[in-house]
Amino acid sequence: MPRTPRPAVLGLIGNTPLIEATRLDTGPCQLFLKLESQNPGGSIKDRVGLWMVEAAERDGRLKPGATIIEATAGNTGLGLALIARAKGYRLVLVVPDKMAAEKVLQLKALGAVVHVVRSDVGKGHPDYYQDFAARIAEETGAFYVNQFGNPANPAAHEESTGPEIFAQMNHDVDAIVCGVGSGGTLTGLTHFFRRASPKTGFVLADPKGSILANYVRTGRIGVAGSWMVEGIGEDFVPPIADLTGVTAAYEIPDSESFAAARELLRAEGVHGGSSTGTLLAAALRYCREQTTPKRVVTLVCDTGTRYLSKVYNDNWMIDHGLLPRKTFGDLRDLIA
Ligand code: PMP
Repeated sequence: MPRTPRPAVLGLIGNTPLIEATRLDTGPCQLFLKLESQNPGGSIKDRVGLWMVEAAERDGRLKPGATIIEATAGNTGLGLALIARAKGYRLVLVVPDKMAAEKVLQLKALGAVVHVVRSDVGKGHPDYYQDFAARIAEETGAFYVNQFGNPANPAAHEESTGPEIFAQMNHDVDAIVCGVGSGGTLTGLTHFFRRASPKTGFVLADPKGSILANYVRTGRIGVAGSWMVEGIGEDFVPPIADLTGVTAAYEIPDSESFAAARELLRAEGVHGGSSTGTLLAAALRYCREQTTPKRVVTLVCDTGTRYLSKVYNDNWMIDHGLLPRKTFGDLRDLIA
């Protein structure tokens, strides 16, 4: 018998540090970074995994020893894998094939069963990762977490991330810059701040190619393109996403996102993933456009160690046209 109902590692989820960026050019603003990369599973999704599993335990949808199924871009899976291991559940994950290899390897190391499916098909196609996961759950009776439609996802942020940011900022926040994958973070934060601090604005950081920024501005769902940043941007509006709190939106090209992630590491020593680059790029654009000082917060959504073969690999960046190809014009430069 376990001695405590909740394994100690799960007590490390949340209460992440918040630091000020001091080396980046933030115009007249102060920019603060909430380090969600410091969660034990390495991302903001640990909170959501814990909230969704414990909500299902409370209402009886999840029984001891049961199987959990989820469709995930990786980080929700990593959070769930940690939680499933600690609490003794089996975990089956459906992951689109554009996800970084490091994430899939880590999921397997944590004991999850991983099914990799095509990322070139959209919602409604039987191989689309969410439809595929839903089908497995339907046919096996396993518990489908469904972060895109699960109210415990935004609740995690309304009840933990939001209050933490508000307290760490001494109850003075002008704007929060946030991305949308499932929409849990944005929805939970807007709902908390609407009550606690109505002056706080919300800036959507959306990868170019995603439909969300345009949807927020026009109310129309356009045709999605493609993007390489992981974890944010969508080709549909997730059912749990409430975008009504968004006050400004930026579309950030991959090249700018990846450059911002690398700049964050170089300037501040903070190693974030690709979506952190998108959020930071939008935050910097927003800060530099202000004419009066503002206190702005953004999130380091996950750790950059998950992207060593991509964002932080010069050869990959060059091959994808994101860094200039090296030329050896003057050989004296090689020893300079
Ligand atoms: N960044 C990363 C790296 C993620 O994995 C996610 C979750 N998909 C997000 C940001 C966005 O969070 P949310 O699902 O709460 O919109």
